[in-house]
Amino acid sequence: MNAKEIIEKLKNTHDLSDEELLFLIEMPSLPVEDDWKKRMRGENIRFTQEEELLFGAADDVRRAVYGTDVYVRGLVEFTNHCRNNCYYCGIRRDNRHVERYRLTHDEILSCCDEGHGLGFRTFVLQGGEDPCFSDEKICQLVADIKAAHPDCAVTLSIGEKTRESYQAYFDAGADRYLLRHETADEGHYHKLHPVEMSLNNRKRCLFDLKEIGFQVGSGFMVGSPGQTAQNLLADLRFLQELSPDMIGIGPYLVHNDTPFASEQNGSMLLTLRLVAILRLLFPYALIPSTTALGTIHPRGREYGLSVGANVVMPNLSPTGVRKLYSLYENKICTGDESAQCRSCLENRVSMAGYRIVTDRGDVKR
Ligand code: SF4
Repeated sequence: MNAKEIIEKLKNTHDLSDEELLFLIEMPSLPVEDDWKKRMRGENIRFTQEEELLFGAADDVRRAVYGTDVYVRGLVEFTNHCRNNCYYCGIRRDNRHVERYRLTHDEILSCCDEGHGLGFRTFVLQGGEDPCFSDEKICQLVADIKAAHPDCAVTLSIGEKTRESYQAYFDAGADRYLLRHETADEGHYHKLHPVEMSLNNRKRCLFDLKEIGFQVGSGFMVGSPGQTAQNLLADLRFLQELSPDMIGIGPYLVHNDTPFASEQNGSMLLTLRLVAILRLLFPYALIPSTTALGTIHPRGREYGLSVGANVVMPNLSPTGVRKLYSLYENKICTGDESAQCRSCLENRVSMAGYRIVTDRGDVKR
């Protein structure tokens, strides 16, 4: 089969053989033009005919399921303390250069109040694995946000916990949980994580969350150190097994205060290609156009939307702490006020041909 036939098959059946998926992952891209003026205008990216076909098919499927709607999630990065030491992460435990912070209960609630006024109907509470936020504190937070804003969904993104903890968060009212698996290959997992962490436990968490009843999000980095096309194939197959509601991917981006300081960033083009493949494999999925895409290229988030993504996650954290939640270098949107963030994103989304809706944005299975 040629590329056109493979893309048609993917669009119609939402699955492919391993060989066909690898073909789409490995097909060549055009070189990125290094003309800085074009880069500043976001015009230095060109697509091959095969990529145009793939991206067009993904956009057709996204429009068939979600129309032009784009859901917004208000992101509150409430702690950058973490007990883990993932090799790729700027807020890993051993990074002594990062200034640590925790938002108070009231600060988190006021971020949500402000977000609600701006039209957000989902709040994502994200943090490192910070033992100071006990289950009781998290449950109280969730309950208070839900009481103040019963029309909103609360998403947690706070790492690996016991099943009992997840059950307690769910019982307190949390609706969704984000936990990227990062890589589904055991060998690759151990290149990215210290020995005390385990892929099996990460997977156990994801299946526990599903069984409890959360809308579950997972995902991976594209171009992380040591990643192969086979690893990406394993990621896609794992996601098919998990069948998550949300799938977040972004290019791997280097942080200079990590053991991977001398590695290369991932590729924007390969990330876009994988967003499109994910849309075609999972037509119903909520797929964010990530901040990492916007960081690697000035129009990265717009490109993400045009190849199948349907969610954006602007930052609601207080501006004073945004720079401190530095998972990778040069993260964008660390200075703007929440209202500015919202209107900037609204413009970007409408320039790309879509529209932000005020809605919880639940999955359409
Ligand atoms: S990736 Fe997550 S778990 Fe790992 S060090 Fe960073 S914040 Fe902690």
